[in-house]
Amino acid sequence: MNGPLLEVENLVKDYSLPREKLLRAPGKVHALRGVSFTIQAGRSLGIVGESGSGKSTLARLVMALDRPTSGRVRLLGQDLHTLPREALRQARRDFQMVFQDPYGSLDPRQTVERIVSEPLAAQGESRTGQHRRASEVVEAVGLRASDLRKYPHEFSGGQRQRIAIARALVTRPRLIVADEPVSALDVSVQAQVLNLMQDLQAEFGITYMLISHDLAVVHHLCDDVAVLWQGRIVEQGPPERLFAQPRHEYTRTLVAAVPEPEPPRPSPLATPFESRG
Ligand code: ADP
Ligand code: MG
Repeated sequence: MNGPLLEVENLVKDYSLPREKLLRAPGKVHALRGVSFTIQAGRSLGIVGESGSGKSTLARLVMALDRPTSGRVRLLGQDLHTLPREALRQARRDFQMVFQDPYGSLDPRQTVERIVSEPLAAQGESRTGQHRRASEVVEAVGLRASDLRKYPHEFSGGQRQRIAIARALVTRPRLIVADEPVSALDVSVQAQVLNLMQDLQAEFGITYMLISHDLAVVHHLCDDVAVLWQGRIVEQGPPERLFAQPRHEYTRTLVAAVPEPEPPRPSPLATPFESRG
């Protein structure tokens, strides 16, 4: 396959709101207004945008968890939204998702082994195969095979997100869509999880679509960033370019929201006016 791993073409998603009056047409939310981009295999695209800009809608359409109003999602050349059910089930091996909330996204009544193996079970893998692969992936994310017997409440937020990443890895996917994977975590833990995702990419050649409202987070991991604003991509480019020359007004606010690195301590000889601030 020579084309891009993921091609998103002119995606539109309208949500109908409940009808307020019997005879009036129901209102609509235009969550996505024609979004297009491609991701080459082994690369990572960051999607940044404020709350309500359509990021999670985009993630759900790319994951084929919901249908677009119009437009196409092609993974490895296959149009996911026109695939017959059984073919889509098999194709799901190639794309997995990591959600924001490491508490809500893991079923508290299931062992880590059940949680991590679930995508393999859905692919019809044998019990032995599931166990072998689950042990491999928990170790790949820095946990122990003995952790498979435990339950989610026995882990910290950062460890739970490692479990979620292990589950996403278990089918050896080509693409991982991560929707705000570190926003619920402490800043110190965020860097550890992002570094892990980066290491896994180097090791397994994974392609990421990483969603965040935080430009610093996507900068950490992504070669290319698309800024989503009111359901449209308003600009796209390498993160360094967006930081240096933001073109859209909203990108400027995002750049301004990223804390600057600590300024160097002024030398004792400098006058206060020569030091920063
Ligand atoms: P983000 O993830 O960037 O915060 P979302 O994709 O969740 O944005 O939402 C985009 C817009 O679509 C918002 O206006 C949101 O209220 C609306 N929306 C999202 N999901 C639904 C739904 N199931 N029904 C109706 N409106 C929705
Ligand atoms: Mg969201």
